[in-house]
Amino acid sequence: MNMILGIAPLHLKIIKSATQYWIKKKKLIRATETLGFFADAKENIEEAIITKWQNLWETSSKSRRLLGIINNVNNILKWEQWNLSRGAVHFLSGHGPYRAKLFELGMTETPLCECGAISTPEHVVLECPRSGENIDGTVDRQINDLRQQLQNLTVKNMIEDENLRNTLDQLATRISHIEKMKFLNRN
Ligand SMILES: [Zn+2]
Repeated sequence: MNMILGIAPLHLKIIKSATQYWIKKKKLIRATETLGFFADAKENIEEAIITKWQNLWETSSKSRRLLGIINNVNNILKWEQWNLSRGAVHFLSGHGPYRAKLFELGMTETPLCECGAISTPEHVVLECPRSGENIDGTVDRQINDLRQQLQNLTVKNMIEDENLRNTLDQLATRISHIEKMKFLNRN
């Protein structure tokens, strides 16, 4: 999770320990200059780092999809323990077997799915009948069952509930696996 969400980017960690150092030395002006916010105690440092990180997050285009889903950094802190599988990383970051993204990156000719819809992560993982098929064209039972458990829910609903989160995780992983096999089969 840390990697894709960019939890405490390195330079923020450095700012944090430098500020702690100046506070320990009782050089509060240096501490405040380093942090960019008033700093006289540990508590201000935490708060300032979260604010800085939130700003960074909001201005970073890479994280825009995730921001839409998660919308604030404090929520991410809660989910730090969530050990994401590869499929969930694909789905949440948008960097996976989804043509809309691949098209944006110049890696495919079209943003459209084989079914004709725009191939977003939500489409591919939650909806598309084509991505719910095995390589031989039969319906994948596991995908079907998992999708049924997630019917009529928003992604936000899914990631806020531990069981649903696991279901989404399994579903996205299964889809990523099958899409990879289909891709290898075609090439
Ligand atoms: Zn489709």
